[in-house]
Amino acid sequence: MIVNQGLAMIRVLLLGGTSEASALAHELAGAGVDAVFSYAGRTAVPVAQPLPTRVGGFGGAGGLADYIRASRITHVVDATHPFAAQISRNAVDACLATGAALCALVRPEWVAGPGDDWRHVADTDAAVAALPDDPAWVFLAIGKQTLAAFAAKPQHHYLLRLVDPPRAPLPLPDATVVIARGPFALADDLALLQSYAITYVVAKNAGGAGAESKLKAALIQQIPVILIDRPRLPPRQTFGSAKGVMDWIALHSTRLGL
Ligand code: NAP
Repeated sequence: MIVNQGLAMIRVLLLGGTSEASALAHELAGAGVDAVFSYAGRTAVPVAQPLPTRVGGFGGAGGLADYIRASRITHVVDATHPFAAQISRNAVDACLATGAALCALVRPEWVAGPGDDWRHVADTDAAVAALPDDPAWVFLAIGKQTLAAFAAKPQHHYLLRLVDPPRAPLPLPDATVVIARGPFALADDLALLQSYAITYVVAKNAGGAGAESKLKAALIQQIPVILIDRPRLPPRQTFGSAKGVMDWIALHSTRLGL
């Protein structure tokens, strides 16, 4: 356990919602760092955390800045999903406004290997446009938030994999829903593609190990993958591992302890 005077002055807000954030929460708790874990509240039963946990939006960058001040947060760690662009932009703005230190824990992007048929597109609308006009069987592995855009191509049958059963009618006329929470295994994703005779995969370039197996399954099945590029974010200090974040916190605590 890291214990020094500087650490006692550090209070971390960990913006979560990813497996990397959960792993980092265990590191912070194990090191005795004073920290709060934050969930957006998108899933019905979020993974329990070893840190005090709050749930729900802050009310934009201004609300986040208010929270940082009121809760005496000194350090914000943005470990949200690479496609959770709004909260990441808010974190940059709120830390600028309050003077809290900010870093992000960011997974490396997926990179195509030999044999991969990946068609990179800039955003969801471009992914819709990249689908063929003739009816296809599409594994739409993009979560639930941007499904409505695919209603522009209602001729396809869409296979959706969601964490929770949908609470409202789906915006797609012809869709099958599978309920599952990652990490996902190659054998399972291969069976999924085969059993639904999938001919296209649409995915976000999320990176990480937990959701990569669908790409490997697509390679085995020789299925094209329409891969949505990550949104652009303002520059910020980033680390690719929990250790990088822990070292950053330890460095700051040492400075404060001087
Ligand atoms: P987003 O579009 O960037 O954020 C929308 C709003 O949700 C934010 O403005 C904020 O509300 C609130 N929010 C997001 N993350 C939050 C957090 N960790 N704590 C408190 N409030 C948060 O985010 P999103 O794409 O909806 O993702 C929501 C959550 O799901 C994130 O925690 C993310 O890590 C996780 N997730 C996202 C994806 C994805 O593909 N986008 C995939 C897997 C997991 P206020 O403005 O009111 O503060």
